[in-house]
Amino acid sequence: MTEDKAENNYIHRTFAMNDEICVATHKILLVGGTGVGKTCILKRFVDGEFPTTSKATLGLDFRIRSIQLKDKCLKLQIWDTSGQERFRSMTQSYYRGAAGVFLVYDVTDENTMSSLPTWVSDIQNYAPEDVEIILLANKIDLTEERVVSREAGEEFARQGGMVYFETSAVENENIDVAFHEMAETVSSMARKRKDTVLGIMQQLSNGHVTQPEKKNSSCWC
Ligand code: GDP
Ligand code: MG
Repeated sequence: MTEDKAENNYIHRTFAMNDEICVATHKILLVGGTGVGKTCILKRFVDGEFPTTSKATLGLDFRIRSIQLKDKCLKLQIWDTSGQERFRSMTQSYYRGAAGVFLVYDVTDENTMSSLPTWVSDIQNYAPEDVEIILLANKIDLTEERVVSREAGEEFARQGGMVYFETSAVENENIDVAFHEMAETVSSMARKRKDTVLGIMQQLSNGHVTQPEKKNSSCWC
């Protein structure tokens, strides 16, 4: 396979740590307008470098990186929209099963900020109800060209109940911090969901949950 083909068709699976102890995998998405820096953020986090050439990739790509939290190791399966955002043709299946979404805009491009509500409504329509959304204000290294203030970003995040980070994929600013925050949150959400399920199962086995009246012997209908 040529390098170009590899670049276009790749599904990289990077395991930075011992796989055996990293059992839980969480699906994380990067969404936002074209050119805001999603692919660079992903590559910075997974490969530890800023890409020197920027090639548009076709199809949907995901990369996996394991991340060490205080008490455990998690695998993050991180999806990049690969140019499809241009057509806003991402479907329900892209969002399905997502534990977290990084919503990215470019602080030097007002349009990427003003299109955020549309992305939020897609997330609300298609992603699971309890999905964690983190807002990333990217390219903060471009101080001269900056047109969207920190206050405007923070206010948008506050109204949407999102955590907010100012990032630079070029200068590796706040990228790891943002992914760690995401990992911590999705991990604790998963623990809560598991506790709820275990609690219900416990109640069922103790006979504390009322079951629907059985109308006939073969089905609950
Ligand atoms: P995507 O379309 O959202 O995936 O955006 P890309 O990751 O392809 O980046 C679009 C352009 O922005 C490229 O030219 C990158 O080099 C540049 N870029 C990405 N992140 C940063 C950043 O943090 N700072 C600066 N100055 N440029 C960035
Ligand atoms: Mg991209």
